[in-house]
Amino acid sequence: MIEGKIIDFQSVLEKVGKFNIRNKILVIPEMNRTGSHLLAAAFRSFGINAKVMETFKGLDLGKEYTSGKECYPCQITTGDILYFLELEKRRLKERFDPRKYVYFMPESNGPCRFGMYNKYQRIVLDSFRDFRNIRIATLSTADGYSLDGLIEKDKVKDLRKVSYWAIVSGDILDRLLWRIRPYEKEEGMADEFIEEAMHKMEDVFERYGKEKNLDKIMDKLEEVILEGREIIDPSIPPKPKIGIVGEIYVRSHVHANQHIIKMLEKYGAECVNASISEWVNYTTYDRLRDAKIGFRLNLKQWRLGKAKEYIKEIMHYRAELFYQEMIQEKIYKKARSILDIAEDHRIGHLEEILKEEDIYSFDAGTEACLSIPSIIHYTREGFNGVVNVYPFTCMPSTITSSIIRPIVADMKIPYLDAPYDSSIQPGREAAIRTFMYQAYQHFKRNGKPSS
Ligand code: SF4
Repeated sequence: MIEGKIIDFQSVLEKVGKFNIRNKILVIPEMNRTGSHLLAAAFRSFGINAKVMETFKGLDLGKEYTSGKECYPCQITTGDILYFLELEKRRLKERFDPRKYVYFMPESNGPCRFGMYNKYQRIVLDSFRDFRNIRIATLSTADGYSLDGLIEKDKVKDLRKVSYWAIVSGDILDRLLWRIRPYEKEEGMADEFIEEAMHKMEDVFERYGKEKNLDKIMDKLEEVILEGREIIDPSIPPKPKIGIVGEIYVRSHVHANQHIIKMLEKYGAECVNASISEWVNYTTYDRLRDAKIGFRLNLKQWRLGKAKEYIKEIMHYRAELFYQEMIQEKIYKKARSILDIAEDHRIGHLEEILKEEDIYSFDAGTEACLSIPSIIHYTREGFNGVVNVYPFTCMPSTITSSIIRPIVADMKIPYLDAPYDSSIQPGREAAIRTFMYQAYQHFKRNGKPSS
């Protein structure tokens, strides 16, 4: 329980938006550990005092100040920010000033509830006298997560580029961990190594981010992968390969998903989880798609002025997507020349799969249009099983499950739905063990896919 609660809500829009974060403390929630820390380091290289909040320790607060109807990631992040601020208040006593902090909580438009987290959290923060003056900085999918307004105009492009490198580098470290941990020489080596590697990468991002020295960053990444490769015990035979899709927060947050990857590994899997850059690329791809639709509609109606505006948007988002995919390919190519970590897919390819199969459309949006074709992609690649990880009652993941179940049954590929809230499900481990038994049978019949 936090003291000083008052019932006096301010407008949810008043302190949620694009605010200048210069000279503030930018507090970032930890979703996947590596990506969040590298992103904070990228911000720090531009002189922004960014820090990642401890996560999951405030879950009780998150539950206390939500009704239980909110999505699980909303409960966790609400708890994270309350816990963080309460600790800061106790640490700094009368020097605590909420105006010094900006809480970073992106949003997405569309039919699901992610667009409401920051509004809801605004109401919660407003209800505490000591926290009502903290601002919430938000990035939106509506403009492809543009950083306009957060820092000086002339630095926006560079910060966006380096933030993207940080996200891709975080993905690579995650993939390195999932590639080496099932084959590690001694238990615990891989986790320990990746934690150290993350800090080394943070340092390199802080030092070379601002000067956009991608070569230095890639050199360090190369060094890390070379070192990580040594953790593999070559005498351990290949294991069934499991693809993971689902809701981005819970599938990436190891506490929220109760360490599902480790649990799958315990029963003999080598896993590949969907990446974080997948979502960033998807938002850019989707804006490009919308701009193309807007252009066609306005051209049909002979509204040339509007059509011209859409041409500008098309060019902008096409250039951004091209850049993102080019950088992603460059970093993956370097990493894969050292170790066969899993490649990432292109969003355009996922849309093609959906069109071929005619089972869902990008017009409907949400993560379902990534998860459904990713599952089909995994099965075509020869993966030995697929797991869909998501918050209990998550709308896009429930859609994914309902559409994909008959398809994976036809394709004879083991499939598991893994919904999570904060409760411990007694049958979860048994379900994973059974799933892994099926995956192992698939592996015996078909072998493991090449990476
Ligand atoms: S994706 Fe799922 S968990 Fe996330 S906001 Fe939407 S419904 Fe909630």
